[in-house]
Amino acid sequence: MSASKTYLIFLGPPGSGKGTQSRMLQDKLGIPQISTGDLFRYNLKNKTELGLLAKRYMDAGELVPDEVTIRMVEERLSRSDCAHGAIFDGFPRNLHQAVALDEMLQDEGGVSLAPLLLVDDSEVIRRLSGRRVCRSCGAVYHVEFKPPKIDGVCDIDGGELYQRDDDKPETIKHRLYVYYRQTSPLVGYYFAKGLLAEINGNRPPDEVQQALIQTLAERHLLSETAT
Ligand code: AMP
Repeated sequence: MSASKTYLIFLGPPGSGKGTQSRMLQDKLGIPQISTGDLFRYNLKNKTELGLLAKRYMDAGELVPDEVTIRMVEERLSRSDCAHGAIFDGFPRNLHQAVALDEMLQDEGGVSLAPLLLVDDSEVIRRLSGRRVCRSCGAVYHVEFKPPKIDGVCDIDGGELYQRDDDKPETIKHRLYVYYRQTSPLVGYYFAKGLLAEINGNRPPDEVQQALIQTLAERHLLSETAT
């Protein structure tokens, strides 16, 4: 791994595999995944003020206000496990957040790379509508592509599997709309900085991971031995 800090920004529509891929990379890069969606869901589960505020936006498939989101990310980045960098999943989600992140990282070397997971809309809808999540450990399943051994029960810790409220059909469509309207301009933003890396995400997770690792190695963000 390079001596400088590494900050990856995963781009792509909801359901494109950002969470899966960023979690798979954590150990290889030795830096944590920061998922703003997971942070909001954690707060919601624990009924914090932040969680209750975020809930109405999440239920509607809308973005939580920038001020709240940016403050939460700043706090998360200040923790010691981010000393060597972080892998962002679901942040930034619009240009304002991207500029705020650049400011946060200006003394840390800035964003290293923005992998964009390209996935067809029909595939996104299929993935999200079949997604199930463990209530206790957060492991992700799919009724068709990755079913648990026992229906509705997590293979890892026996927790109950549930469908996220925002994975219901009407909200999925609205989240896609919000992605194209608010988040997709970030593709141009990172492209202009020479930081965009397009990855075909219409493939099984292991193949996508392999492609990512190759891209990171080519950009000297991962030692050859880790590939
Ligand atoms: P995700 O798990 O990334 O699909 O996020 C679930 C929901 O959390 C989104 O639909 C938003 O309501 C909220 N959320 C997650 N990340 C952000 C962000 N960076 N800015 C605003 N809202 C967010």
